[in-house]
Amino acid sequence: MAALTLVNVTKSFGKTDVIKGVDLEVQTGEFCVFVGPSGCGKSTLLRMIAGLEDVSSGEVMINGARVNDVAPAKREIAMVFQSYALYPHLTVRDNMGLALKQAGQSKAAVAKSVDHAAAMLALEPLLARRPSELSGGQRQRVAIGRAIVRTPKLFLFDEPLSNLDAALRVATRIEIAKLHRDLDATMIYVTHDQIEAMTLADRIVVLRDGRVEQVGAPMDLYNDPDNTFVAGFIGSPM
Ligand code: ADP
Ligand code: MG
Repeated sequence: MAALTLVNVTKSFGKTDVIKGVDLEVQTGEFCVFVGPSGCGKSTLLRMIAGLEDVSSGEVMINGARVNDVAPAKREIAMVFQSYALYPHLTVRDNMGLALKQAGQSKAAVAKSVDHAAAMLALEPLLARRPSELSGGQRQRVAIGRAIVRTPKLFLFDEPLSNLDAALRVATRIEIAKLHRDLDATMIYVTHDQIEAMTLADRIVVLRDGRVEQVGAPMDLYNDPDNTFVAGFIGSPM
């Protein structure tokens, strides 16, 4: 069964059609990257997959169930945003453990899960700090750690590296690739960065103005783009 299926998904805000009929199937364990210009609907699509935004028409199915038929706490989806969205008054440990605590897990169980995720991301030395005491890169690692703690089956990333400087972008990208291997999870990753798309993706979905322009493995898109728009986005020689 596909991890994610989109069937003719559309979204309008008032009279503006933003997503204009997207069909897509993502297999379990796949790393699928969405690319496309600013305003083409990447974040809107991701928010609909997360169930944070209703579709105007069509279906979003996760492991065969409509996303809105599953209670939010049971969705097994984690989303990592560009803005880290950490709670400033909580320590790193409490930020990472909050969702588990809210789900009613015991203190000991929460601590164990947080310790495990912290070890994966080398966050142990930071657990007692608050977000204001962290660098941008460290905050983003905490945001990723908070997503891992919930052991989701589906990770949704919305331009998670775009606020980091170049060196940190590379380091964090390598960490995300490693997590994908270690966790065996399905990942949907939005970026407008060609290098991120080419290095992380099993498959790239090129979006343009609310529609899928082309889908394929990175090297297939690179070598055989359907048109100059795709070539431009993937960085193929024209
Ligand atoms: P991207 O992430 O690809 O840059 P978005 O999904 O954020 O694009 O936005 C796609 C389009 O939808 C943009 O034109 C944006 O202005 C519009 N849009 C997004 N969210 C809303 C909203 N809540 N209300 C009205 N328009 C919106
Ligand atoms: Mg966006």
